[in-house]
Amino acid sequence: MSTSAISSENSPPAAEQVDGVGIVQHSSEFYLADSTYCGLEPRSKHRCPRHQLIPACRVAWGGASTERRFLGCPLDLPDECEWAVWVDPPPPERVGLAFEELHEVIEHSWIRSHHLEKRSIDLAKKNRALNKELKKMKEIMCIGTMLFASIFICFLAISMAVCAQNAH
Ligand SMILES: [Zn+2]
Repeated sequence: MSTSAISSENSPPAAEQVDGVGIVQHSSEFYLADSTYCGLEPRSKHRCPRHQLIPACRVAWGGASTERRFLGCPLDLPDECEWAVWVDPPPPERVGLAFEELHEVIEHSWIRSHHLEKRSIDLAKKNRALNKELKKMKEIMCIGTMLFASIFICFLAISMAVCAQNAH
């Protein structure tokens, strides 16, 4: 790779490139924070439709558009406009389908992990309750043993006294 190619990759995009393919969509898009593409984009020719604000740089997450850059309303939900301007072109169909399948798997594993976490919390609660009961039963058994031992000793002492009296 030549030095000029590296420097052009690292330099910020020209003003006319900031809107990329510029496909406007009138629905909101999920995104995740991405340090490589964030902040506001004042060079965009677009402003969000509801607030007329400078759009924010976002990276889509979820479904076929995962990792696709877009400009969106800079406000967070629930104030966010249902609007996005795609900077990157849509992915090839096969790539989009692969991302959709991948996200389906991720979502299922999240749901399963959530259920397992809930089950683990419930089991921990049951375990605490059983431990409490076990401790109580041990206490009762200890008292019972002591009581039985004292009765036995008393009985033994009485029997020995009776035997001694009969021997005289
Ligand atoms: Zn807005």
